[in-house]
Amino acid sequence: MDSYRCQNCDFTGCEDLFPAAKDLSQRMTVGDTWTDSECPKCGSLAFPVPQRRKVRRINRKRGKWALAAVRAFMDETGLSDADGLHTAIGDLLADLHHLCDAKGLHFYDLTLHALGHYRAEQTEEGDIG
Ligand SMILES: [Zn+2]
Repeated sequence: MDSYRCQNCDFTGCEDLFPAAKDLSQRMTVGDTWTDSECPKCGSLAFPVPQRRKVRRINRKRGKWALAAVRAFMDETGLSDADGLHTAIGDLLADLHHLCDAKGLHFYDLTLHALGHYRAEQTEEGDIG
């Protein structure tokens, strides 16, 4: 999935967050870089951010680490491939919420923190982790 960045406020995120641009023919002229999306925050035009090969490679590695964690959870709980990743990830997230409750951690704060990391990792190499 591609990332988009607002040309005005630099809001960046996956393409699903960016709605179709309104009045596109009045906002672009011949020779402009083409886009069909606008910023959900300020309404300015937003453009695809090309992902560099290294960023994609690092993020695939991050996905493999997460898959290993999900597989370990599936082994521990008796979920099978027939249950599917959707079920396994949903159950794991719910159980992580229970863990946070038990340990006095704030699940929603951690989720927002993780989303910030995810968004940054879509376009920046950063540290692996
Ligand atoms: Zn914006």
